[in-house]
Amino acid sequence: MLKSSSRKTVFSATGAAVTCVALLLVLAQQRRSAHGDAHGDAEVGMRSLQSAAEMDGEVQSDQAAHDGGKKGFSAYFSKLTRSRREAEKPTLADAGVTSSAPAEELRPDDLFIAVKTTKKFHQPRLDLLLETWISRNVQQTYIFTDGEDEELKKKMGNHVINTNCSAAHSRQALSCKMAVEYDKFIESGKKWFCHVDDDNYVNVRTLVTLLSQYPHTQDLYIGKPSLDRPIEATERLGDNKMRPVNFWFATGGAGFCISRGLALKMSPWASGGHFMNTAEKIRLPDDCTIGYIIESVLGVPLTRSSLFHSHLENLQQVSRSEVHRQITLSYGMFENKRNIINMKGVFPVEEDPSRLPIKATSSSLVSSS
Ligand code: UDP
Ligand code: MN
Repeated sequence: MLKSSSRKTVFSATGAAVTCVALLLVLAQQRRSAHGDAHGDAEVGMRSLQSAAEMDGEVQSDQAAHDGGKKGFSAYFSKLTRSRREAEKPTLADAGVTSSAPAEELRPDDLFIAVKTTKKFHQPRLDLLLETWISRNVQQTYIFTDGEDEELKKKMGNHVINTNCSAAHSRQALSCKMAVEYDKFIESGKKWFCHVDDDNYVNVRTLVTLLSQYPHTQDLYIGKPSLDRPIEATERLGDNKMRPVNFWFATGGAGFCISRGLALKMSPWASGGHFMNTAEKIRLPDDCTIGYIIESVLGVPLTRSSLFHSHLENLQQVSRSEVHRQITLSYGMFENKRNIINMKGVFPVEEDPSRLPIKATSSSLVSSS
């Protein structure tokens, strides 16, 4: 966490940093359009699969079965390496930020960015976000939590929503929060719904640029696939009947966005209490349920973007010169090792383990290009 004396220095550096980032972005975009950019980095995130497997033991991914002997992240990393090899071939489906004319003029205010958190993470996680990207994006950011916090209310006003969902990390509790996020988005009348976790940094400027390439009235579901193949699940049809279903989904830990046009179509399966019922039908976590409604029920394919990152991918792979172009970044620990982006900062890693970009000096941003 930042010490308040040093905060000022950082925030004053921020203005310059943002300008440099903007410049770098333009340069990067020019380079990109000159060379073409159709890389499909099908990153793999095991989070949902893991949590699903932990919660129900009902995920039938043959990949998971293959990895069955290995545990957790080592399985994940060998999988990641395999999928990287597979993903070398370019795919045109990857949603990158291009310099082509926007489909519509979009303002940050057109976005509804839902941040999922829980009371015990208000101080250790949310404070960091409030000091960095949220402080500049209060108008479009909504915090979904499970407990009252007067301090948080003072900062965010009615953009803090106490879902009254359970504070447990259970499938039901997480789906309960997602259901409230969805309902509040519909109520807001905004054009795009984006969901992130409280360990995500969001580059709202790049996010707006990406989304402005698509009309919000069309059916769009954008994010990073959690697996390198569709998840294989079982749909409960009632009368003890079951049916296998396969669908792609965007991992919630990297963040994803849904256009208003599509969100409205999801209503019969997502609004009011329906989301919880739908989640019960497939007994998978909230992000899988979103994928199920969109891909399996509505037949709308996931648009992939490699610009969204969860901490369940190797973040060292995001090169320093590309950090500014990413839409979401995360940070975390596993096997007692830090998984963080490759970023210099004013603060030593011990003091700032997140390496969230806003904390970098403008000079390190420039030298990294
Ligand atoms: N979370 C929650 N309730 C809990 C634990 C976590 O709502 O009891 C939220 C947390 O705030 C975060 C998301 O769930 O936004 C994912 O949690 P975490 O990063 O701890 O787990 P992982 O990314 O490994 O799934
Ligand atoms: Mn996380």
